[in-house]
Amino acid sequence: MAQASVTALGFDADDTLWQNECFFRDTEDRFLDLLADFGDRATLSSRLFTVEKRNIPVYGFGIKGFVLSMMETALEVSDGRLDPSIIAGVLAMGREMLSHPVELLPEVRETLEMLSERYPLILITKGDLFDQERKLAASGLGGLFQAVEIVSEKSASTYARVFAARGDGPDRSLMVGNSLRSDILPALEAGAFAVHIPHDLTWTYEHVDEPVDHPRLFIEQHIRKVAEIVERINESGDGLKR
Ligand SMILES: [Mg+2]
Repeated sequence: MAQASVTALGFDADDTLWQNECFFRDTEDRFLDLLADFGDRATLSSRLFTVEKRNIPVYGFGIKGFVLSMMETALEVSDGRLDPSIIAGVLAMGREMLSHPVELLPEVRETLEMLSERYPLILITKGDLFDQERKLAASGLGGLFQAVEIVSEKSASTYARVFAARGDGPDRSLMVGNSLRSDILPALEAGAFAVHIPHDLTWTYEHVDEPVDHPRLFIEQHIRKVAEIVERINESGDGLKR
């Protein structure tokens, strides 16, 4: 039997390499403050989430869509009778988000530097093209990736395509990310290995209710463990975890 081995590594960016969700949470908190006259926080927050979900097929993922969803929520909950200063406040918060500093998660740089000497690294991220490019440039990590794929949706076919084009196919690739829904389940479905590194803050949209168990799935608390996992896979013959 052919030996299974991992020859290319894919990485998610937001909340895998750098902080992201915390900026959305902070903004949402301030948005709920602005709308205090129109309902309690829990209700307003769930109204916003409903609008966001409805808008994903229209606007895609990212900050600009979030800003539009905040405006739409404000108009809905106020029945259109809101003070224009609320809209101005939402726009200002959006601009602030689009220029927030990039804060790398611990040991990301060291880990990627080490891994990039052994394997081609591929960045696979979804969201606003312009914003993702800005964050990658600000992160200083760009030179460590052999390829950068900014996609509008992360499905099994996305991973199959990217790992075929940039690596030796999905079955010889491994995806690392914080979102079960976007990074892990579709990568496994495509036939890749996956390392789930949960982040304390993960957007409700990315949650998966069922516990996930798969012979090609590894769950780790820290990105530095990725090298060890790849070595273990490549030494174990069939590539399955022990
Ligand atoms: Mg992520």
